[in-house]
Amino acid sequence: MGNIVAIVGRPNVGKSTFFNRMLGMRKAIVDDVSGVTRDRQYGSSEWNGQKFMLVDTGGFIGDSEDDFAAAIRTQVHTAIEEAQVILFMVDVNTGVTDLDEHLAEILHRTKKKVLLVVNKVDNSARHLDAHEFWSLGFDQMFPLSSNSGSGTGDLLDEVVKLLPTEELIEDDLPKFVIVGRPNAGKSSFTNALLEEERSIVTEIAGTTRDSIHAKYSKFDKEFLLIDTAGLRKKKNVSEDLEFYSVMRAVRSLENADVCILMLDATKGIEGQDLNIFRLAIKNNKGVVILVNKWDLVQNKETNTAKDLEDKIKERIAPFTDVPIVFISVLEKQRIYKAIDVALEVYENRSTRISTSKLNEFVQEIVAAHPPPPHRGHFISIKYATQIHTPYPAFAMFCNYPKHIKEPYKNYLENRFREHFNLTGSPVVFFFRQK
Ligand code: GDP
Ligand code: GDP
Repeated sequence: MGNIVAIVGRPNVGKSTFFNRMLGMRKAIVDDVSGVTRDRQYGSSEWNGQKFMLVDTGGFIGDSEDDFAAAIRTQVHTAIEEAQVILFMVDVNTGVTDLDEHLAEILHRTKKKVLLVVNKVDNSARHLDAHEFWSLGFDQMFPLSSNSGSGTGDLLDEVVKLLPTEELIEDDLPKFVIVGRPNAGKSSFTNALLEEERSIVTEIAGTTRDSIHAKYSKFDKEFLLIDTAGLRKKKNVSEDLEFYSVMRAVRSLENADVCILMLDATKGIEGQDLNIFRLAIKNNKGVVILVNKWDLVQNKETNTAKDLEDKIKERIAPFTDVPIVFISVLEKQRIYKAIDVALEVYENRSTRISTSKLNEFVQEIVAAHPPPPHRGHFISIKYATQIHTPYPAFAMFCNYPKHIKEPYKNYLENRFREHFNLTGSPVVFFFRQK
């Protein structure tokens, strides 16, 4: 799902109609992060077993003609930079317009794969009309009707052919991804780590496009940083930048073990941070929160950090067993501590508990506080086993699995967190029929 397919084109050519058809009524995986941008739609799509992220760059259109052309140009440029395949959509009803020609010119200059999609080809007469778009100079054309769906299959066949196969990172090293809003300090953090250890940082060619392998010989620590913003050239298109930063977070989260969420101390935790946080939790990743730019917080008193920590925990509730580290990348304060904590979270997420220890513990906490009976039925948890997942997950065998309610699950989770070191890690329980 790491690959991005972006739809670009003038307004009204049918981009969002096409997008909606592709996503159908299926719930997009990224539901949790929808709403982060008013102007763009994105969701995961699948064709012939290949997953990709579809983006409708529809987006913001300014008030004047100039704004309008500039906005579209910006969208096209960003799509070129971020997407693996670009669908350039035009409208057979209007024929070739100046703006189409202009966009075609930009798109011809990229090495990225661009497919010309002629929309609103609802019948065979329109098929003939579509030929005028050969003038845009593409060697392939995909006439289709977003309304009826005809022609979309041929297009998708070609799209998935063009998608690069995702390279799996085979390495056994902890994989960290740094996410957060633009300007939180992600690049600075990565660069600071790299500078300190420049001699021993190696970019492993061919592992994956966006990852670096950082080895901290000083502490004998090794990890991979995946798809960090710091490895990319800085861009200055703030609106698109923010949008794609979420996209990138979604993509890179998939491959990571631990999500390092970076906040700006002067801003606290904001809506988009929460979206990313929830997405990390939903994907059962480990989480560390770094509050950066601590140097900018004036008149710090003894409880300033504690107060901010409490505020953050209030927002991220109920998943509050998360380490929060206050750092200043600028002053190189606690940046190694941050990595240490991320490695700890990685360890916690890798916790394995022997079946005997697990059952001893489960019996104890269940005896101390048994599940409330359901309609007179006594509910008992007979035994538990840890499931083979990259994060702690437990199958609890019991007589009425359906009647174990949320508060009881929370009780179990809290006891587990008290007893085992699971800070920053998810814990999942499955209740199964014995
Ligand atoms: P966008 O601005 O590019 O996202 O365009 P929309 O998806 O909002 O579509 C603009 C208009 O074109 C809407 O009225 C759609 O109903 C219409 N439209 C989209 N796809 C088709 C199609 O395949 N055939 C026809 N006849 N109309 C379409
Ligand atoms: P990114 O968009 O998250 O990658 O953020 P950058 O790393 O580009 O940082 C954005 C701005 O914040 C830059 O001007 C940095 O110099 C600045 N910055 C980063 N870390 C700190 C910090 O700890 N303290 C202060 N005062 N500024 C910082």
